[in-house]
Amino acid sequence: MASNSSRTAGRHFLQIPGPTPLPDRILRAMDMPIIDHRGPEFAKLTKRVLEGIKTIFKTAKPVIVYTATGTGAWEAALVNTLSPGDRVLMVETGQFAALWKKMAEKLGLVPEFIPTDWRIGADPAAVEAKLREDKAHTIKAVCVLHNETSTGCLSPVAQIRKAIDAAKHPALFMVDTISSLASTDYRHDEWGVDVTVGGAQKGLMLPPGMSFNAVSDKALAAAKQSKLLKSFWSWEDMLNMNKIGFFPYTPATNMLYGLAESIDMLHEEGLENVFARHHRFAEATRRAVRGWGLEILCRDPKYYSPTITAVLMPEGHDADAFRNLALEHFNISYGMSFGRFAGKMFRIGHLGDINDATLVGALGATEMALALAGVPHKKGGVQAAMDYIKSAQARPARAAAE
Ligand code: PLP
Repeated sequence: MASNSSRTAGRHFLQIPGPTPLPDRILRAMDMPIIDHRGPEFAKLTKRVLEGIKTIFKTAKPVIVYTATGTGAWEAALVNTLSPGDRVLMVETGQFAALWKKMAEKLGLVPEFIPTDWRIGADPAAVEAKLREDKAHTIKAVCVLHNETSTGCLSPVAQIRKAIDAAKHPALFMVDTISSLASTDYRHDEWGVDVTVGGAQKGLMLPPGMSFNAVSDKALAAAKQSKLLKSFWSWEDMLNMNKIGFFPYTPATNMLYGLAESIDMLHEEGLENVFARHHRFAEATRRAVRGWGLEILCRDPKYYSPTITAVLMPEGHDADAFRNLALEHFNISYGMSFGRFAGKMFRIGHLGDINDATLVGALGATEMALALAGVPHKKGGVQAAMDYIKSAQARPARAAAE
């Protein structure tokens, strides 16, 4: 703090791109005595949650719930469907794509990247071209991130499905929705995704520690042939136990109460309204950044993320020093920078249980921090964001997203 105070008043502005702030309702829902995870009350909870979560992934097929962070669900997607030496096509959208690729290598797969400069999402035409080259169909899976959390670039999942179909390629299609699910439109069944990887701690507004695999019939059939070793991650064991309302091991009971509440809250607000709210936050944030005269990392508007805006620092200004200063003076956290942009940008997360006023507060803190840090910028970014929010609020929510 600017003074020597050891107490910070007010709520922390958690503007990292997840974990996101926990709604009090979810905290209350999880504040329950532990029940027997092999008892009838638990079986009812499991069945409710397993049905409910399908409405978030927009699937009629099973969704597997892991007591693990998103990284676990990444591993589960690969080890349940693939065999040692299988080729996997991935798109180098940023740090998280790089981590998933590294995992695939460690598991004995042969991943291959379509490179990018980390400033765009996955290009369907590039995926189609790679698949067309693979006449022998040795590529067994195409893996993309719907939203690359490290850069704030969204990839067009439905168009990538079309590209795979246009190439007449039989590869499985796997999509990571960890920082997009329950924040922007996503349709597992309609978009023909075989495995969707999800996480609890972002759009679902839950603590970290729970993750998901939504699976298609094709993925379940591939699982029967898959030779990679699996034990904890086995879909088969999970699905067998889930049928009777249980898990093969002790699940995170209280997280499941939280998940039930989260699903109810998302439907009370209405998924379309949730998506419109995130689009409004994203557009308002981009207008603020442009108002400050700073550059948005995502360089092509068609890939703009509805949940994260990464802001490039002017030459000679350190993003980590800026983040530290903002934390010290305004009790706000931003996402750090990775890899080729380490120290060169900060990420504003605008997802989860926040509203227009939260966002304006966060952008106000950012404008003040830019001034205190001596980062060259223009005044008026927050005003531009507020003007946009006012005009968007004056229109119906659906129109505001367009
Ligand atoms: N994939 C994406 C897109 C992410 O944003 C993250 C984490 O933020 C992960 C995977 C890894 O998830 P976790 O940190 O929960 O293991």
